[in-house]
Amino acid sequence: MATFESKYNMGEELGKGAYAIVYRCTHKETGEVSAVKVVDKSKAGPKDIDDVLHEVTMMKTVGFHPHVVQLKEYFDTPKNMFLVMDLLNGGMLFDRIVQMKHYSEQTSSKLIKNFLLALEHIHSKGIMHRDLKPENLLLKHNATGGGDETHLTDVALADFGLAGRAPGQTCCGSPSYIAPEVISVGYLRTQKEPYDAKCDVWSLGVIAYILLSGKMPFHGRIYKETFQKIVKNQWSFVGDIWDRVTPTAKDFIKTMLTPDPKLRPSATEALQHPWVANVQPDTHLGE
Ligand code: ADP
Ligand code: MG
Repeated sequence: MATFESKYNMGEELGKGAYAIVYRCTHKETGEVSAVKVVDKSKAGPKDIDDVLHEVTMMKTVGFHPHVVQLKEYFDTPKNMFLVMDLLNGGMLFDRIVQMKHYSEQTSSKLIKNFLLALEHIHSKGIMHRDLKPENLLLKHNATGGGDETHLTDVALADFGLAGRAPGQTCCGSPSYIAPEVISVGYLRTQKEPYDAKCDVWSLGVIAYILLSGKMPFHGRIYKETFQKIVKNQWSFVGDIWDRVTPTAKDFIKTMLTPDPKLRPSATEALQHPWVANVQPDTHLGE
């Protein structure tokens, strides 16, 4: 059987995770460039290894979508695990946004629409991502942009390390992006009924808020304070920055941040909202 080393040449480091390092790699025969997540089994514990196996299962279950990182190949040896994936050459979406300082509301709506399409797809496979946050939203191209903003909307959802089959009961993710029902079920234990894929819709609402204002809707000095604000629904459109944002965009965020998951739209329903429904689809999908 072919090994990773026999098929690929390893390139530069692209990023680091908790126990894995992601590198660029090139297929020796075809010259195709990919990313590979390498897990050093001597450094990872048995639980970490299980987590990576879980991530592989999740990626395989999710399958193809133009806005979801694809797993191309998987190798397991006594020393390492290698996850060969689509290369997302542009790095983290938010780094680019921060560099740009100015971008249009139209660009934001297109970005959010692309992630809603990704969510619609993974949810249709019975999977929730549970770790939607800026670090896991990656750009495909390393473009500097020729005046337009299309290089900003060519994005994919990465890191299925915390993904799971809906419904769920554990509290996971990054505090600022966690939905109130996930906190109630998994942390406060004030609710018994498990949460479902709507938790991803909430997190995308938080991301939309940040994209449009550069501020976090829920922010505390410690995670307990953040959780308090989330479960008490303490957030607002206060600040000059919101004066420039359209009422349609504000209504979209308000809808995504509906506290009761039963009343919150699914990804499919959110795609009907005028802020995203009227956005022109990409013409180059599947490229
Ligand atoms: P972890 O589960 O440990 O957080 P990630 O899968 O998020 O690991 O990967 C860690 C980092 O590696 C990411 O934040 C990103 O910078 C980089 N990275 C991950 N996957 C890719 C990819 N397919 N293409 C390019 N860079 C990637
Ligand atoms: Mg990550």
